[in-house]
Amino acid sequence: MESTMQEVPLTLTELFHHGRRVFGSSEVVTWEGGHARHSTFHEVAARVERLAAGLRSLGVQPGDRVGTLSWNRQEHFEAYFAVPCMGAVLHTLNLRLPPHQLAQIVNHAADRVIIVDASLVPLLAAIRPHLPTVEHVVVVGGGDHGDALGEHIAYEDLLTRSAGGFEWPELDERSAAAMCYTTGTTGDPKGVAYSHRSMYLHAFAVWGAFRLSDRERVLAIVPMFHVNAWGTPYAAWMLGADLLLPDRFLHADGICSFIQAERPTFTGGVPSIFSGMLAYFRENHPDVSSLKRAVCGGSAVPASLIEAFRDELDIELIQAWGMTETSPIGTIAYPPRDTPPEDEMRYRVKTGRAVPGVALRILDEDGSEVERDGVAVGEIEVRGPWITGSYYNASAPEKFHDGWLKTGDVGNIDPLGFVQITDRSKDVIKSGGEWISSVELENLLMGHEAVADAAVVGVPDEKWQERPLAVVVFRPGASATPDDLRAYLGDSVVRWWLPERWAFVDEIPKTSVGKQDKKKIRADYAAGTIEAVQVATSGAPVR
Ligand code: ADP
Repeated sequence: MESTMQEVPLTLTELFHHGRRVFGSSEVVTWEGGHARHSTFHEVAARVERLAAGLRSLGVQPGDRVGTLSWNRQEHFEAYFAVPCMGAVLHTLNLRLPPHQLAQIVNHAADRVIIVDASLVPLLAAIRPHLPTVEHVVVVGGGDHGDALGEHIAYEDLLTRSAGGFEWPELDERSAAAMCYTTGTTGDPKGVAYSHRSMYLHAFAVWGAFRLSDRERVLAIVPMFHVNAWGTPYAAWMLGADLLLPDRFLHADGICSFIQAERPTFTGGVPSIFSGMLAYFRENHPDVSSLKRAVCGGSAVPASLIEAFRDELDIELIQAWGMTETSPIGTIAYPPRDTPPEDEMRYRVKTGRAVPGVALRILDEDGSEVERDGVAVGEIEVRGPWITGSYYNASAPEKFHDGWLKTGDVGNIDPLGFVQITDRSKDVIKSGGEWISSVELENLLMGHEAVADAAVVGVPDEKWQERPLAVVVFRPGASATPDDLRAYLGDSVVRWWLPERWAFVDEIPKTSVGKQDKKKIRADYAAGTIEAVQVATSGAPVR
C-alpha cells in the first residue's frame, strides 16, 4: 500500500510555528541578577525572524555553522530557532572548556559566525586570532569590548537593521540542525550533529519523559551549550510552558533568588547543582516551594540527595540518563505503578527505564545479552531515532556495533527493565579480575553524615592489579576516620570492595559540566598531588 499519510517534514520550523501560533502569551524569562526580563513567545518569535534575516544578511547559507558562546538567556534561545530554521547549523560552544580546546572545536566545525555574550568576550578575544573560519562575531549585550575582539557587530544592531519577516526555507528533515561536542570526560571531544528529525522527535520524548505541559514554568539550569539543555527549551516552547533562564547566575544563591522571584515548578540539572542548592537551603532557607519536580542526571544521583530533596524540600528528584550522543534522553527512573511509597527508593536510585523510542541492550564480554536479573553486568548499547549514527568528521568504528551505539557505560538490567549503571567502562575498577562499582561506593559514601562529596577511582595495586581509592570531602565542621567510613560501607558491601586507600580533600576535581573528573583524580594520585593514607592490606576478591 503506497499512499498513507501526509509527508510533513519533522523539522524545528514546525515546532517554532506551533509554539508561536498557539502559545503566543507564554513567557521566556531571563534572570539578570536581582531582576527578571520577561518576553512573550510572540515577542521572541518576531526577534527570531529578525535574527534569521540578520544572519542571512551576513551571508550565512544553509549548512553553515553558527557558533554560540552564551549562557542560558533569551538571545541564546532566539538562536536556538533562528539558526536551524534558516537551514544553518547551531553549534553551541562549551564556555567552560580550556581556550585551546574551544579553538580546536570551532576550527573543527568550521564555524562562520559566532554569537557571544558580552560577559564572555574576553574568552573569545583570547582565541580570536586562531579562528580562521570565523568571518563575523556578533556580541549580545552592552559593555566596552575594547580592541581585543577586533571587528564585531552588536546583536541588537543586527536585529534592527533587518526588516521584519523572513521566508523560512523548506528543509529536509534529515539535514543537520545543531551540533554539540562531547565534553571529553574520557577522551578527546567529538562532534555530534543532530538532525531536524531527531530534535523534533526528541522534543516529544522530553515532553513525555518529563511530563511537561503549559501549566509548568520550566527553569533550565542545564547549560544551553550542553546537549541543548537536554531539549527542555524546545519542549517548553512547543507546549507553551514558560521558560526561565538563569543566565550566568548559577551559584546556589543566584538560582534560589531566581526561584523565589519567578516561581518555577520544574527544573533539571546535574547532581552537583542540586547538592549545592541543598547546602544553601539548609543555611539560608530560601522559599523554593514553587518547585515540585526536578530531573537530575549527567552522573549517578546519590540516594541521600533524592531523600533530602523529598524530606526537606518536598521536591521529587527524578533520575535520568543520557549522553551527548543520545540527544540526550535515554532512560528515566519513575517507580513502576503500584509501588508502595516505602519501596520507591529502590527504583529512584537506579538509572531508569528506556524511554519509548530508545532500544537498549546490555552485552557481556562475549557479545551475548546479559540476563535481565539486575546482577549480570556488561556494556550498554542503544539504538533509536535520536541516537547518533556517527561522529562529525571523525571515524570511531569502536563506538558502533551492528547499528547500535556503544555507550561506554557498564551496568545491569532487572526484569522490569530498570538499568543500573555501575561505571563507565574507562572508570571500571577491576580488582583481582572482579569488578567493583565505583558508582555504588560513591553513592553509599555520600550517605554518611560527615561526607559532602566523594569519588572512588581505581589505582594500581601490586597484588590485585587495581584497588579502589576513595577521595572524600567532608561537610563543614565534620570529619570521620577511614576506619569509620570502612565500617559504614561494610554494612552494605562485601569486604573486598572496601577501599584501603583514603584521601581527604577540599574539593573533588570536576569537568567543565560539573562531573567528577576521574582522569584528573587518577593523574593527581599518580603525581602525588592527591595524597592517600593506606589503612589496611588489600582485600581479596572472594570467589
Ligand atoms: P561526557 O561524555 O563528556 O561526560 P556527556 O554529557 O555526554 O558528556 O556524558 C554522558 C555520560 O554521563 C554517560 O555516558 C554516563 O557515563 C554519565 N551519566 C549520565 N547520566 C547518568 C546517570 N543517571 N547515572 C550515571 N551516569 C550517568
